[in-house]
Amino acid sequence: MNWMVQAKNLIYDYLVEKNEEEEPVRFRALDDLTLDVKKGDFIAILGRNGSGKSTFAKQINGLLKPSSGTILVNGMDTAQEKNLLPIRQKAGMVFQNPDNQIIATIVEEDVGFGPENLGVPTDEIWKRVEKSLSQVGMLHYRKHSPNRLSGGQKQRVAIAGVMAMKPDCIILDEPTAMLDPSGRKDVLDTVLELKEKEQVTVILITHYMDEVVGADEIFVMDHGRIAMQGTPREIFAQVDRLKELGLDVPQVTELAYELRRDDWDLPECVLTSEELREELIRLWQ
Ligand code: ADP
Ligand code: MG
Repeated sequence: MNWMVQAKNLIYDYLVEKNEEEEPVRFRALDDLTLDVKKGDFIAILGRNGSGKSTFAKQINGLLKPSSGTILVNGMDTAQEKNLLPIRQKAGMVFQNPDNQIIATIVEEDVGFGPENLGVPTDEIWKRVEKSLSQVGMLHYRKHSPNRLSGGQKQRVAIAGVMAMKPDCIILDEPTAMLDPSGRKDVLDTVLELKEKEQVTVILITHYMDEVVGADEIFVMDHGRIAMQGTPREIFAQVDRLKELGLDVPQVTELAYELRRDDWDLPECVLTSEELREELIRLWQ
């Protein structure tokens, strides 16, 4: 089977309590969302605040269940209770705040926590801890206290904790939002290396456009729906539409777009500074 995630006509309503007397009000956070993720792909989900990205992420590992519609993870329906444990092992989550996801007082114990909960034998746990810490470049810190690490290092430990559960898919919900630029880069490079070397499917939710330029596919959410879907080049060619949806484009894309509007002979979408450099050299030759 080729699909890691298959979401079909997904609807999710939060029930919001106003006060004791009144019935809770329904708030529709996912509104007929259909989206498939191919195994081994790196997909990115963009969308303004409140567009439903985190709600969708929580559907993937069964933290929230559909109000209607279905979501299958590796062919398993999240609506069935018996599937939840295997789904959570297959699809690991990394959240925005590294401090909320580190539990133990020593890095290696933290990374071992997930497999321990899965009932993995002790010697196998230690093997996995070592392997996943080295995969994220943090083996050297195995005996350290997580408190003393930088935000980027903490996120890499959190990613190692997910990898130690041998997932097929890793879902990162704004993992770099609280990091400085160098921490952001380390975390993103780590994730992309895992994708290449371990063939994990990566679902990245982010506000940073430069992080998604290398994605296989981008989905833009708006009001709980998929508003745009395509390759980075297809998506970032539509600068005006992205702006309507409350999003930026990569800086270099924006610059090329402005120049093109001033009648410079540039392609419809320039994604990297290297591409722009080549185009400018061509124009000036
Ligand atoms: P995003 O991650 O794209 O910012 P969310 O999925 O967090 O969006 O939220 C989607 C919508 O659902 C927002 O309007 C948000 O206010 C609402 N929402 C999120 N969590 C809850 C909740 N626990 N109860 C009620 N409404 C919620
Ligand atoms: Mg969110």
